[in-house]
Amino acid sequence: MELRKDPITRSWVITGDDVPDSTPRPEAFCQFCPNSPVAAQLVSNMPGISGGPWSARAVVHPAPLYHVEGEPTRRGDGIYDRMSAVGAHEVLIENVRHDRQLWNASDAEIEQFLLLVAHRIQDLKRDARFKYVSIFKNYGVNAGQEFEHPNSQLTATTFVPRRVLYELRAARDYFKAKERCVFCDIISQELRQNQRVIEVRGDFIALCPYAPRAPYETWILPRIHDAAFERFGLARPASMLDFGALLRRTLQRIRTLTGEFHLVLHTSPNSLFRSKSLEYWKTIDDDYHWHIEILPLIAGKAKSYTFKEVYYSPVTSETAVKRLRGATIEG
Ligand SMILES: [Zn+2]
Ligand SMILES: [Zn+2]
Ligand SMILES: [Zn+2]
Repeated sequence: MELRKDPITRSWVITGDDVPDSTPRPEAFCQFCPNSPVAAQLVSNMPGISGGPWSARAVVHPAPLYHVEGEPTRRGDGIYDRMSAVGAHEVLIENVRHDRQLWNASDAEIEQFLLLVAHRIQDLKRDARFKYVSIFKNYGVNAGQEFEHPNSQLTATTFVPRRVLYELRAARDYFKAKERCVFCDIISQELRQNQRVIEVRGDFIALCPYAPRAPYETWILPRIHDAAFERFGLARPASMLDFGALLRRTLQRIRTLTGEFHLVLHTSPNSLFRSKSLEYWKTIDDDYHWHIEILPLIAGKAKSYTFKEVYYSPVTSETAVKRLRGATIEG
């Protein structure tokens, strides 16, 4: 695998002819369950709660896209740029139990998982090679789910992914013009108008964005400004209980409409090692605001937004919110 930069959009892609086959195969046992005969390479454990051997853990992905050894060795190829696929690729096991997903686990279990995420991001940001740590969850066959055991995945990359770069540049430009965080402004307007808010819980808000990319697109944000999820979570570990509960309830709502979704966590890039060329790092702590984005895949519309030049959503956010708010959930 290698990384190549698109000279027009300046975004990196990972490509190679030796693509690992990630289609899930029916297996006699689950490699992520505690008593599995095949142990994945352990990276980090969260202590067990209520008698379990552990509550959440990070392991090396069994077929990683990125490899942790070596230097990215960026090199030119005429007008093009390429680098080796150096990075980290981990599976974040959300729960010790095979049947406890983020929507039916206890709030204490989800809290442990969220703290694991915060610890992993903080740890990987100490590595100067890594510019960004992505956390994502693909649930459902059409979403590209790889493993059955409740899991999310992590990649640490030597570049900032395209979507995050767009957000960072836009947030920086808004801050330059108004000296305010665009996300904080969105939150206060949404709370004032109360047309697209799904639920507020503690310091967190779940809402449908004004211009959705997919029907029922949902964001969860902290109401207290912070650019970095890991800094927020580790400074306020108790708040992860509320965040976990809101995440759980929001996923329950979405699951009344569809079982498949993509989820991503957007946090600030690695600013421990400042880059001279990338201007956005000067005001990043003021202009960026961490959040979670959930993109549900609605049957028949699955993947329909992926290759669109203009996103099309057949449900407005105001209608989506009415249905999500009104959904009957377990609690
Ligand atoms: Zn399992
Ligand atoms: Zn903010
Ligand atoms: Zn985002």
